[in-house]
Amino acid sequence: MSNDIHEIYAIKYGRHERKKTENYLGGDPHDTPDPIDYFVWAIVGPSGTFVVDTGFDTAMAKKRGRQISKPIAEGLKAIDIAPDKVANVIISHLHYDHCGNYDTFPGARFHLQDTEMTYATGRCMCHQALRLPFEADDVVAMVRKVFAGRVEFHDGDGEIVPGVTIHHIGGHSKGLQSVRVKTRRGHVVLAADAAHLYAHLETGRVFPITYNVGEVVEGYAKLQKLASSPGHVIPGHDPLVLARYPVVKPGLDGWAVRLDAEPKG
Ligand SMILES: [Zn+2]
Ligand SMILES: [Zn+2]
Repeated sequence: MSNDIHEIYAIKYGRHERKKTENYLGGDPHDTPDPIDYFVWAIVGPSGTFVVDTGFDTAMAKKRGRQISKPIAEGLKAIDIAPDKVANVIISHLHYDHCGNYDTFPGARFHLQDTEMTYATGRCMCHQALRLPFEADDVVAMVRKVFAGRVEFHDGDGEIVPGVTIHHIGGHSKGLQSVRVKTRRGHVVLAADAAHLYAHLETGRVFPITYNVGEVVEGYAKLQKLASSPGHVIPGHDPLVLARYPVVKPGLDGWAVRLDAEPKG
């Protein structure tokens, strides 16, 4: 009966110090600091371990002016996940901060929306405004995985295993997908960049990098419908996630938290 219940871990790997005005389409009247964190996520259940997104590496951090706090492989190992044993990686979308570290999961199949690959290899990438969050090398690395028979494409909503489903949201990137996970506390939704910060969900505002604003705000409603409560939606870049959820084990403070556990009071 409970063989579709999963654990979820959020593992921080990086940070970018920035101002609040950079996080909202149309800016923000407050010129206060509003840093974002970078995460990968791990879902662990009876069918194995599923990693959501693969982050960026040190070279990309330098190129993009971001900080790596702990490389993703280190974060996974700290919670006893061996990256080379991971059989499935779900890629939310192909932005540089979600699909780097190409060789960290040599045995994995990669789950991606049809639309995201079409978008990242098609006419939209002729436009600087749209290709800004993509890296050609990242996209090429994913194309190589297609030719190696290591990509499983999804069209819309789909099931990875019982209790783990993916849902096309679009909006921020044309083929963005979020992941819904059945846990002991109900259905938790890993929004990835369908919602960067809690504030986007709470105020209906939009992150400036956007393919389609209408799909972003419709996406907020879809995320909340998929989750057991609004509090079960996990935004993709909010430092508050680490503050709200319990640390996985001593020594991993500010690094890895359990999302299948109740948030701290
Ligand atoms: Zn993104
Ligand atoms: Zn992102």
